[in-house]
Amino acid sequence: MQVKDIDRTRSAELYEKAKTYFPGGVNSPVRAFKSVYGTPLFIEKGDGSHIWDADGNEFIDFCCSWGPLILGHNHPAVREKVIEVMQKGMSFGAPTALESELAELILSNNRFIEKIRFVSSGTEAVMSAIRLARGYTKRDKVLKFEGCYHGHSDSLLVKAGSGLVTFGETSSAGVPKAFADETVVVSLNDKKALQEAFEEFKGQIAAVIIEPVPANNGLLLQSKEYLQYLRDICTQNSTMLIFDEVISGFRVGFEGAAGYYGIEPDIITYGKIIGGGLPVGAYGASADVMSHISPEGSVYQAGTLSGNPVAMAAGIAQLSELLKPGFYEDMQAKTQSFVNDIQNFVAERNYQFKVFTIGSVFWFAFTDQESVSRAEDIDPASMAKFKLMHHELINRGIYLGPSGYEVGFISAAHTKADLEKTKTAIFDSIDIVF
Ligand code: PLP
Repeated sequence: MQVKDIDRTRSAELYEKAKTYFPGGVNSPVRAFKSVYGTPLFIEKGDGSHIWDADGNEFIDFCCSWGPLILGHNHPAVREKVIEVMQKGMSFGAPTALESELAELILSNNRFIEKIRFVSSGTEAVMSAIRLARGYTKRDKVLKFEGCYHGHSDSLLVKAGSGLVTFGETSSAGVPKAFADETVVVSLNDKKALQEAFEEFKGQIAAVIIEPVPANNGLLLQSKEYLQYLRDICTQNSTMLIFDEVISGFRVGFEGAAGYYGIEPDIITYGKIIGGGLPVGAYGASADVMSHISPEGSVYQAGTLSGNPVAMAAGIAQLSELLKPGFYEDMQAKTQSFVNDIQNFVAERNYQFKVFTIGSVFWFAFTDQESVSRAEDIDPASMAKFKLMHHELINRGIYLGPSGYEVGFISAAHTKADLEKTKTAIFDSIDIVF
């Protein structure tokens, strides 16, 4: 049954105003709702699993600020810690004890890194990790995978998924050819392509970077065996393996994908969850590798607001919650049950629709393939169905990220009632889509 479109009058007014100030009316491209129906919703507040827009419409939120809000919106522990710290000042550009507190929390619960450096975004974390790998190996080339997004630094905006693929592009304008030439791109889950790249650029590849849980071009889950192959081929070629865990870090487990698959990369990057909703990124590695970072070593990297106390406070409060016994088991069980019920519903109707999932991440794929592990395996035509589904879900009070290439996130704040309501909305919407 079709339902009425929600009122977007106020959002539309705010969008018109924003367009006079910002390119496309937004400060990050996918927010513009360009690939789904209608005006972007201007959000006024969030609490737990719910958000409210400027017209007073209420939604159960599965975007969760694109992943950081694993505890949901406005979590009391995070809010209170942030307020407590803010009252003593916002930023000093000098060391504070809070940086070490957050680092200790992370490093004492992570077997894969010994030292860490805080920055202010995932982009910065990855950009710095690449520089570190280049400085360490004294090589220039970086190998990445088609569809993996690693932030918007120049050499990584090549076949990068996320907003680019949403808008039908693969790479950004404005990246000098000389930079792009240092980036080697191969398909995910293709050992032969990887071998050939290592042969062609023998002794030149500083690092292989991968989202071990590729989640920016759909959810392109890789096998443990493939990731282990990647580890081995990097070791054989003295190339550093970088796990970009900006999404998977603290999401598929406190130790991220490295812990989930039991594979040790040389450098790990973090973002999103690590900052509890405030801007934090980080990269970490062994003490030896990290000793190459300035001022200990000669790889320079700095930041005015790096490790600022308010963001550190949010990170400390959020990560402390994640360490409580059973946190990840509960998240996984809740997500799996939600996904199973949807799978059963579509299987009975033979719809070309699958839900892929890991931890508390899910992706709605309009496909009949049993698994999708390469960006090239996604049919762009299927996005028309996502567009329709997104619209139907918005009208039913369910907020998904506005692109069929993006994944959804379940938070600790999503209740049984939220997930029941969402399933009903999904069932009604899928029936309309097909
Ligand atoms: N790496 C991955 C895997 C990401 O998903 C993202 C952002 O979505 C980034 C890096 C860039 O992070 P940020 O948007 O904080 O710069």
